[in-house]
Amino acid sequence: MFKQRAFGFWSGYTLGMFRWLPRSAAAAAGEHVHHVHDYLRTYRRRFTILDDRLELWFLGAATADLVPLLFGERFAAVWYRGVLVDPGSVRMRGSLRSHLAARPSRPVTAVTATHAHEEHTGNLRWAADHCQASLHLPGSVAGQLRAPTRLPIIRAFAFGTPAPVTGTVHDGSEAIDFPGGRLEVIPAPGHSSDHVVLYDRQERILLVGDTFIDTYFSASNAETDGTAWLATLEQLLTLDFDLMVEGHGRVHTLRRDVPDIPGVVVREDPRHILENKLRFLRGLAERAQDARDRGLSFNRAVAEAFPWEQRPSWERLIPDELARLTSFGEFSRHRLVRSLLAPSRR
Ligand SMILES: [Zn+2]
Repeated sequence: MFKQRAFGFWSGYTLGMFRWLPRSAAAAAGEHVHHVHDYLRTYRRRFTILDDRLELWFLGAATADLVPLLFGERFAAVWYRGVLVDPGSVRMRGSLRSHLAARPSRPVTAVTATHAHEEHTGNLRWAADHCQASLHLPGSVAGQLRAPTRLPIIRAFAFGTPAPVTGTVHDGSEAIDFPGGRLEVIPAPGHSSDHVVLYDRQERILLVGDTFIDTYFSASNAETDGTAWLATLEQLLTLDFDLMVEGHGRVHTLRRDVPDIPGVVVREDPRHILENKLRFLRGLAERAQDARDRGLSFNRAVAEAFPWEQRPSWERLIPDELARLTSFGEFSRHRLVRSLLAPSRR
């Protein structure tokens, strides 16, 4: 009886998938065109977001560029009042060097990163030395970068393997000062356990790194802790901010002092965006937990977490499967759902 019911669910689920596949393919094709368009119009460019205060410098390299072309996640360093944040991977060094050479009016006094992932951190020491700036990192990020673990082969191919960070690293676990102000450092585990966000309370600006990668991003990496991510989003929503810079080249704001920059500035209230992401993750967690509480299998919980009638389930099916296949299973919906379940239900 139980087996028959399970068979009924899976045949219905599979049929549903085939029914939604054409729409899913159309959505993926549309997204792909959009990604390529955004990639081309921001290719290795610099954009001033706020005069004399905030710029985005788009980075890349031949192998790394496969990521924005396939998945839409571009790479950009953030220059904020002299603090250079997430200056890219070793393979992107040439593009970073070009930006630094072209921007003598944008001195770098401090270099930092939001988390230890290699596409953000391969140039930390190099950039600090090159600019005669100080390197500031929270202890957990510095610890990982001083003794890095071996990268999965696909990531090493795309981004290059960073050398261990050596030399003086200032404690960047509380704040990073710049002339006339400071960036507060706030722990933000979820995307990775060491992740922090940087916050200028006076300017109401939040640099969130990979804490925000698309509202419905659902093919998570192995380190993702969905439960911690929920708590982080709740905490960020207690802060007062109206401009949010994400780690892959987008700025979300309604502020009129920010110019319209197609492909970069998204005219949405950043608080609404984080609220939507929180709602999406909570929905996944509740449906998956409910399935496990009813004694259903883990695979069934993943399927029930992504019901076909909900748009992100079919809209992101093809990109999620592509991410799973190209990363040899490292990035997947299963990873995200597992991390959202209570430990006894994983
Ligand atoms: Zn990351």
